[in-house]
Amino acid sequence: MKVAVIGGGIVGLSVARELSKYNLELHVIEKNEDVGMGTSKANTGIIHAGFDDPPESVRARFARRGNEIWHRWVQELGIPTAWRGEIIVARDYDGMKKVDELKRRGEINKVPGLEIWDRKKLLKKEPNLSEQVQGALFAPTGGVMESFFAPVALYENLVDNGVKFFFNSPVVDVDKTSKGIKITTRKFKGTYDLVINAAGLYADEIAKMAGYDFNIYPRKGEYFLFPGLFLKLNYIVFPTPSRGTKGVVIENTPNGTLMIGPNAQDIDEKEDKGTTEQGLNFVYENAKKLVPGIPSREKSMRQFAGLRAETKDRDFIITTDGDFWNLAGMRSPGLTAAPAIAEYISEIAVERYSLRKKEKWYAYREPYPKGGKIICDCEGITEMEIREAVRRGARTIESVKRRTMATMGSCQGAFCMPRIMKIMSEELKTGLEDVYLKDGGWVVLPRHD
Ligand SMILES: Cc1cc2nc3c(=O)[nH]c(=O)nc-3n(C[C@H](O)[C@H](O)[C@H](O)COP(=O)(O)OP(=O)(O)OC[C@H]3O[C@@H](n4cnc5c(N)ncnc54)[C@H](O)[C@@H]3O)c2cc1C
Repeated sequence: MKVAVIGGGIVGLSVARELSKYNLELHVIEKNEDVGMGTSKANTGIIHAGFDDPPESVRARFARRGNEIWHRWVQELGIPTAWRGEIIVARDYDGMKKVDELKRRGEINKVPGLEIWDRKKLLKKEPNLSEQVQGALFAPTGGVMESFFAPVALYENLVDNGVKFFFNSPVVDVDKTSKGIKITTRKFKGTYDLVINAAGLYADEIAKMAGYDFNIYPRKGEYFLFPGLFLKLNYIVFPTPSRGTKGVVIENTPNGTLMIGPNAQDIDEKEDKGTTEQGLNFVYENAKKLVPGIPSREKSMRQFAGLRAETKDRDFIITTDGDFWNLAGMRSPGLTAAPAIAEYISEIAVERYSLRKKEKWYAYREPYPKGGKIICDCEGITEMEIREAVRRGARTIESVKRRTMATMGSCQGAFCMPRIMKIMSEELKTGLEDVYLKDGGWVVLPRHD
């Protein structure tokens, strides 16, 4: 049996992980040069506990179970994760009513360990909060991962498990034929017994090629990153949610970086990832209301934006009829839910196609060897790690960054980038001017040809 997953984001790769346990020929088809270059590279990275989603929603069905599975997967795949717990902080009476409602919802969703903290306990547990707070919901199973790293970790494990990747291969046509589902990409054509559409923001366009009709609307979220030394929080801090968004989060990522964001802005363009003054002001001002001691804006080392794949009903679209399946509308908590969606999809595939388990399947990803000169001083990344990243498939500086975290510290690559370029040019046997910053031909050094 031949199966294609369209899209190398967290959802497609998670599904591929579950399916890779079975005897089938599995292809992941990705339009970019690397995995995880879509929504999965720019988000808040939270593995939500699962209390927030309305119990009747598709999201709720997969979020709590996804959280449970991630607790195992991050160990198997070596994804840096901090299980700090989430606090949803109320600033007034209405906020406390919301906190009560979230707890009730969480209990229906079977989220373990939820507690309501009064003002005194909350300020003792998280002294960085504003004196104005009234109380909070505490969800101990919530955590934060280096989410850009998760697709890379899954990719490396999938390669070990025999999955074939086709990069730079945007799907441009899907055709249902008597021999199977024919896929045309800009690079090759292939016919498959089962095709799974996990194309993120573009899942609507792929679905239309196969006769489905729904739309995906991009919804932008903007962020600030600050060096971690400015503020260390004990928990992942949320306000109470409003107007369908979880609100501006203040958190330290597992490596300590302080992350603040996102806002939620409906936009027209699926590629518009620019930050805006208005959006960043909103993020900063809202974060300050909860944590007055956040650093001043000029201390920020980077700002960025990510795009949610929204649908009309603000819920996931999962269809499994026929031999073309859709996994679309993966807005938050899609990162959290991905392994649970994968489990569900593989259960259906096993039953429908009578799949048999492989004799050998590797759950664990090989960690990177560490050693040699320190290349990235901020993050302590060594020469051996950079070389290994290239050997495992990194072809741009950004790909090296997402595999090792080099250039992610406070200097943002100002010191280490030339050293990384030198190692890459040695490994790839190219000139320095042929080392690319990122996908799409972004060079660092000017070319003279
Ligand atoms: C601002 C923001 C904050 C978020 N925070 C959280 C959070 O804290 N916790 C949480 O659980 N979730 C969060 N999410 C949601 C989460 O990031 C997404 O649900 C998840 O990343 C979606 O993964 P995906 O695989 O569906 O999409 P993507 O990561 O976008 O992957 C889709 C892939 O398909 C490829 N593709 C597209 N078109 C084609 C084509 N024609 N041919 C071949 N390949 C194609 C793309 O290149 C891409 O690699 C957040 C999202 C945003 C934007």
